[in-house]
Amino acid sequence: MANTTLMMIKPDAFENGHIGNILEKVTSAGFKIKALKLTQLTKRDAETFYEVHSERPFFGELVSFMTRGPIVAALLEKENAVSDFRTLIGATNPAEAAEGTLRKLYATSMGENAVHGSDSDENASIEAAFHFSKRECF
Ligand code: ATP
Ligand code: MG
Repeated sequence: MANTTLMMIKPDAFENGHIGNILEKVTSAGFKIKALKLTQLTKRDAETFYEVHSERPFFGELVSFMTRGPIVAALLEKENAVSDFRTLIGATNPAEAAEGTLRKLYATSMGENAVHGSDSDENASIEAAFHFSKRECF
């Protein structure tokens, strides 16, 4: 799994109609789609997915944002997938994101930042298993 990463296109980007543009940029950047779905996180899903942030002051806001509408989950493959995808999405705060990055293009704020990317190979595996069964991965 070292060459895979887990992407979520967050509810803000779904609401703003950016799914097609984001998928186009992701595949143009050389990522292959191994699994893909439109889904909606429950409160428990979001609390589990972002458990590492459970003590942070923004946790409640993060959970309510991530559950308020559909998201796209995708398993992506590329050499150095985790780090190359973090480069493609840009800094957590879109105000600090580099030109051309997905967050610079599509995010509206630190809290509503359009796209998630795994932060390590280990978490990519955990997050892939969170969203997809084996038969959903190609
Ligand atoms: P993600 O895990 O969604 O890819 P990230 O790895 O860039 O984002 P994290 O530090 O893991 O950033 O934070 C997870 C999410 O929590 C951020 O994407 C953002 O939506 C929210 N968040 C982080 N810091 C803040 C903050 N200071 N205020 C509001 N929301 C925040
Ligand atoms: Mg993170």
